[in-house]
Amino acid sequence: MKVADRMGSIPFSGIRKIFEEANRRQAGGEDIIHLEIGRPDFDTPTHIKEAAKRALDEGKVHYSSNYGVPELREAIARKLKEDNGLSYDPATEIIVTVGANEAVFITMVALLNPGDEVLIPDPCWLHYFYCAQIAGAVPVSVPMREENEFKPDIEDFRRRITPKTRMMVINTPNNPTGAVYPLDVLEELAQLAREKDLLVLSDEIYEKMVYSGDRHSSIGRFPGMGERTVTVNGFSKIYAMTGWRLGYTAADRNLSSAMIRIHQYTTVCASSFAQWGAVKALEGPQNEPEGMVKEFDRRRKLVYGALQEMPGVEVVEPKGAFYVFPNIKAVGKSAEELSWYLLDEAKIAIVPGTVFGDFGADYVRISYTNSYENLKKAMDRLRAALQKITS
Ligand code: PMP
Repeated sequence: MKVADRMGSIPFSGIRKIFEEANRRQAGGEDIIHLEIGRPDFDTPTHIKEAAKRALDEGKVHYSSNYGVPELREAIARKLKEDNGLSYDPATEIIVTVGANEAVFITMVALLNPGDEVLIPDPCWLHYFYCAQIAGAVPVSVPMREENEFKPDIEDFRRRITPKTRMMVINTPNNPTGAVYPLDVLEELAQLAREKDLLVLSDEIYEKMVYSGDRHSSIGRFPGMGERTVTVNGFSKIYAMTGWRLGYTAADRNLSSAMIRIHQYTTVCASSFAQWGAVKALEGPQNEPEGMVKEFDRRRKLVYGALQEMPGVEVVEPKGAFYVFPNIKAVGKSAEELSWYLLDEAKIAIVPGTVFGDFGADYVRISYTNSYENLKKAMDRLRAALQKITS
């Protein structure tokens, strides 16, 4: 039987391909170092797990409101106010989703018409591309240039606007480049969104992972942005809760009232006892996430420092998230070839930049979500493997 036509443009995840092959080889006894997956290698803090266990013991095992457990929405609204300067009504403007993945999906499907154009930074987490396509919309790549440290250039956005442009996606701190968009760039993007009457999807899932004195800012707090911005965030990264599948959207009541209907007809609600864990994540002590960020910074310096010395590699300092995105053009292999060569030769799993869009073709993504010791070992192996093909 045939599947839907739209599936022709929706491939299996490129990251998962490498991940599954690396796992297969590891199961066969190979000493693989994983640097391909975007998830913290830390465990969820104990107090969060305890809160979810308590919820199970207390019988909080039924559907929650479609919007999510009220206590969690209230905690999210407080967080958005305190950390981001954003004001949202927890009763009607916050939706707890099955990860930020679902948050992006319901935003695109509820707010885009077929044929609408969506400006998406490239390279980026390709979920935006495929969700836009599932919604029948047209993703339009906006290049993020290495010479601009992968930060958006407003003219690159402006040049791609047509009468059909309906939405702009931004993701800061960025996966895969590690760029953190400065305040003045966000202000320019906000102005463009107002001028052209665009929706903005702002994915802020790495907001707390910023280094080198940089600061994260939310585009939704600029004047006139509240009505047009969907702020997406979640618990996966900063609380090491990827498997809990919890994220959220914050958006004006009018937008949320459309998004909640997609959510109703896909997932109904996020796992209710998991949501009680998330309440504790926001309201409990923050020392573990803070410690994790410190450790990521230590690893970031190690990996960035090592890459600067590698043959055939050019690298921009990553300022946020937990990725580094070196340029490997001078190595003389395509990103795809190099990634498979490194899996064979160095037993390290990384992701070719092509997985993040056409403008990622000269790059590879390395996640420093592995122990300091393993990262040291991985950098030694990488150097040796590159020396073999560049000397
Ligand atoms: N946004 C970005 C930029 C991401 O990199 C990821 C995870 N790869 C997500 C959202 C999704 O996170 P989750 O669905 O686990 O909340």
